Amino acid sequence: LFITLEGGDGSGKTTQMAALAAWLQERGRTVVQTREPGGTDLGVELREIILHRRGYIAPRAEALLYAADRAHHIATLVRPALARGEVVLQDRYLDSSVAYQGAGRVLEPGEVRDISLWATEGLLPDLTVLLDLDPAVGRARLDSSRTRYDRLEAEQSEFHERVRDAYRALADAEPARFLVLEASRPVDELQASIRDRVSALLG
Ligand code: C5P
Ligand code: MG
Repeated sequence: LFITLEGGDGSGKTTQMAALAAWLQERGRTVVQTREPGGTDLGVELREIILHRRGYIAPRAEALLYAADRAHHIATLVRPALARGEVVLQDRYLDSSVAYQGAGRVLEPGEVRDISLWATEGLLPDLTVLLDLDPAVGRARLDSSRTRYDRLEAEQSEFHERVRDAYRALADAEPARFLVLEASRPVDELQASIRDRVSALLG
């Protein structure tokens, strides 16, 4: 079972993923918790370049760096875990690229998606939880000590509005794959909604 969490910065993906992992483990499941970018050793190096390198990275180069991270991550960590019958919980996946590199950086979203599908040999999640949130609320939630804060401050609020709209359009286009939740709801309520859906998938 492959489950991804998506949403803007500060939407609560990491919190919901940890709670879901604990619940699945109580039910006897082996759970792999991972993230993009940076879910592998190579990915950590690519994440450092993508997020912390000083200076301009052309949007297409950035999209390909994310795709390289994703290709290696899926091939070496995610597919093997799925083949062993484990549950993979992943903080961000291809929908992040469509939203951030596609709508955010104004590349063609369909092309960004195609690059990801090539990189991953077409692996799509069984479930994608979208934590939908006003970007201004997400920004206010972030601890200023987090490294990404500078990056957020540097980016225009319109960028984050485009990202949010792109995520919602993705969910509308694939309603069977997505569970869309209003991320301003209480953490426990959100977790209960996620567990309901995951229970149904586990059968
Ligand atoms: O979720 P995480 O903290 O790992 O994301 C780090 C940063 O990378 C976020 O600020 C997000 O805006 C950015 N990002 C991106 N494109 C992606 C994935 C993440 O711009 N495909
Ligand atoms: Mg997070």
